[in-house]
Amino acid sequence: MRTSLTVALVTVLVGGTAGLLLGLLAGYFGGWPDGIISRIGDIQLAFPSLLLAILLAGVLGPSMVNVIIALAVTRAADRVAIMYAGRIVETGTVAEVYERPAHPYTLGLMRAVPDPRDIGAPLEAIEGHPPDLTEPPAGCSFHPRCPFARDVCRTDDPAPRVLGPRRATACHFAEEVTAHADR
Ligand code: SF4
Repeated sequence: MRTSLTVALVTVLVGGTAGLLLGLLAGYFGGWPDGIISRIGDIQLAFPSLLLAILLAGVLGPSMVNVIIALAVTRAADRVAIMYAGRIVETGTVAEVYERPAHPYTLGLMRAVPDPRDIGAPLEAIEGHPPDLTEPPAGCSFHPRCPFARDVCRTDDPAPRVLGPRRATACHFAEEVTAHADR
C-alpha cells in the first residue's frame, strides 16, 4: 500500500512537472521549440503502452511486482492474473490486485517490495520453495508456504471464487487475506 502510494505520487509529480515545464517552454518560445515539443508529445501518445511497460519493467528489474508496477504506471493493461504452481490463483484489475491482494501468494509478493524510505531494512520473503509439479502437495498447492493455512487447506484444493466484478481468487480465506492487506 505505502509503496503503491509512493509510486503513484512519484508518477504524478514527475509527469506533472515534466508536462508543465514542456508546456511553459512551448508557450514561451513558440515557433520551432513548440513544434519539437508537440512532436515529442505526439510520439509519446502514439508509443504502444505495452512496449513502454516492457521497457519500464526492464529498467526496474525482472520481478512480478515490477511488472505490475510497470503495467499500472503505463496503463498498458487493465487486468492481471497471478500464477502459482502453474495455476492462476488470483485475477483482477491491476489496481485491485496491487492495493488489496486476496491471495496470500500475491500478498507475499507485494510485501517483498523494498521500501525506498527504509534502505537497509531486511526484505520480507515468502518462506519455502515452489512445489515440485510432478508431485504437487495435496490440497492447496501453496499451503506448505502459506501463513494463513489451516487444516482444510491441506486437503481441499480451493476452486477459483468470484469476489466481485472482474475479481476472483483461489483461496479458502480470501476475505481474511484482504483484511490483512488493509492493515
Ligand atoms: S487456500 Fe489456504 S493454503 Fe491456500 S492460499 Fe488460501 S489460506 Fe493459503
